[in-house]
Amino acid sequence: MTIVFLNGEFMPMADAKISPMDRGFLFGDGIYEVIPSYAGRCIGLLPHLQRMKLGLQAIGMPLPMDINALKTIVERLIRDNGKGNLGIYIHVSRGADIKRSHAYPVNVAQTVFAFTFEIPPEPVADKSLVKGYKVISAQDLRWKRCQVKSTSLLGNVLHFQQGQDAGCHETLLFNQEGYLTEASACNVFVIKNNCILTPPLDHQLLPGITRHLLLDMLKQDNKLHIAERAIHIDEVRCADEIWLTSSSKEVAPVIELDGKPVGDGKVGDIWLAAQRLFSQQKYQY
Ligand code: PLP
Repeated sequence: MTIVFLNGEFMPMADAKISPMDRGFLFGDGIYEVIPSYAGRCIGLLPHLQRMKLGLQAIGMPLPMDINALKTIVERLIRDNGKGNLGIYIHVSRGADIKRSHAYPVNVAQTVFAFTFEIPPEPVADKSLVKGYKVISAQDLRWKRCQVKSTSLLGNVLHFQQGQDAGCHETLLFNQEGYLTEASACNVFVIKNNCILTPPLDHQLLPGITRHLLLDMLKQDNKLHIAERAIHIDEVRCADEIWLTSSSKEVAPVIELDGKPVGDGKVGDIWLAAQRLFSQQKYQY
């Protein structure tokens, strides 16, 4: 039985009920986080909670409780749900009003919901075990506040499905000028001539925690040149390697873009080094 947290109480999932007037439901008016944990150990718990605080600030909502209280909820959910391979989802919405109005409601309590779900075992740095991703490219048709981890995910859902409908795993997104933003549920890295490139943070992409951790590790490792800069689609098409990063995938190698092989079409050596580094250091964050 899954135990969840809803508005101050822990309860079985089946007992968790929210109003259909909740603005998270009616407007997608909320912020969420997903934190990975394996055998009771989280990766990047504090950075995730800090991002949630910033996301709430960006949409004019306070953090409903301090970061330590949120941390305690996460720890209790992991304990109550069996310490396996768990994703911890936390969602804060602007609450349920009695009328439907776009304007922010006054004196309405936020809804705070958290639950755990099973995720695949920890990715391993092993070319023979890793899945090579196939992706398509598409114009990024989402909104212009992608730095906010909003629960309004329809733009991302449509792009993700676009990839699925093409028989692929993900969709790489490019802005109107042809520059890479991110993928529908991941950040993107491009490797060319031993140089690791990723788009700089702005309103066009989520400041991924995995992206941040990986950049930090690679910079400290100091073996390869790293640049956060705009990457044109022409550079992506002739990349030696492409990686997707996200909390559940960690560093995932892409082997095919729009039906054509990436590099030699095999999982690359730099991917192996990067995932190895990530596996070694991820619990330090
Ligand atoms: N970009 C988008 C649009 C995402 O939805 C996600 C993860 O859900 C990411 C990037 C990767 O973020 P993180 O590494 O924090 O999981």
